[in-house]
Amino acid sequence: VSAGDRLRAGAGRVWRWFFPPEVALPEDVRRILRAVYPTLDLDAVSFHVGVPHLIRLVGGHAVTIPALLRPRRTRIYFDPGHWKPGSLDWLGTVVHEAFHALQVQDSRWGFGPIRPFLILYFACGAANGFRYEGHPLETDAFCVAGRRWSRFESAFARGIPDPGAVEEESPRLATPASGLRFWGRLAGSMPGLGRLVSPPQRRPWLAAFVCPLPLVVWSLLWTGAASLAWLGRLLVEIAGAAAAGLLWGTGALVSLPRVLAGEISRRRKIFDPPSR
Ligand SMILES: [Zn+2]
Repeated sequence: VSAGDRLRAGAGRVWRWFFPPEVALPEDVRRILRAVYPTLDLDAVSFHVGVPHLIRLVGGHAVTIPALLRPRRTRIYFDPGHWKPGSLDWLGTVVHEAFHALQVQDSRWGFGPIRPFLILYFACGAANGFRYEGHPLETDAFCVAGRRWSRFESAFARGIPDPGAVEEESPRLATPASGLRFWGRLAGSMPGLGRLVSPPQRRPWLAAFVCPLPLVVWSLLWTGAASLAWLGRLLVEIAGAAAAGLLWGTGALVSLPRVLAGEISRRRKIFDPPSR
């Protein structure tokens, strides 16, 4: 293998590090997800293995992020060390992350940096002291799946279930809605206001009525934070794409003399056939 080939292979690895390709979820698992989340638009959700640097920032084994530009698309990234198809832990994490995709869907789609789910994730995270454990949106997801005591794992503690068994259990297991209402949750995450509107799902109008200005300021604050995070990720991805492009270009340049020499000798063979 020449140096140019090695450089181009390296460029491919750098590209896949920043933009891991979609992995196909086994059809059985898609059936299980459809049984658990009958209202989730599964075609708008894609699964990827990679970006461990991003997953470590958030915590957990995987992370669900709205796509950079496509308004309906949600991407679920798995840490490569935890992508173990066939294990119950892996399936539990898939079901857990799909719940986040349902939260994205229920908090409405967005575009670019304006993603209601991200804004809410930041605001609720701030209310929880930026800890992963106890984050209200995580607690909701863990009620369904992701822990040994979650509804999904306790129903199938003996091992990975077949889709038929999940469909049979669906009257008890099916989760048609994440219960995520943007304004109610946002009001609930505001310091001093959370207790007033508790339970936060029910009384967003009370918060809006009692203190509309702080609620607007609070929502703008976390819209700003989500936009900065979006911009940071975009810059990292641009840098990654540039690094992969540079490596690939260098590899192509290094290989150029060899490719040209090969081409010249091939043409010589065509135009000057060896004399008999
Ligand atoms: Zn989660």
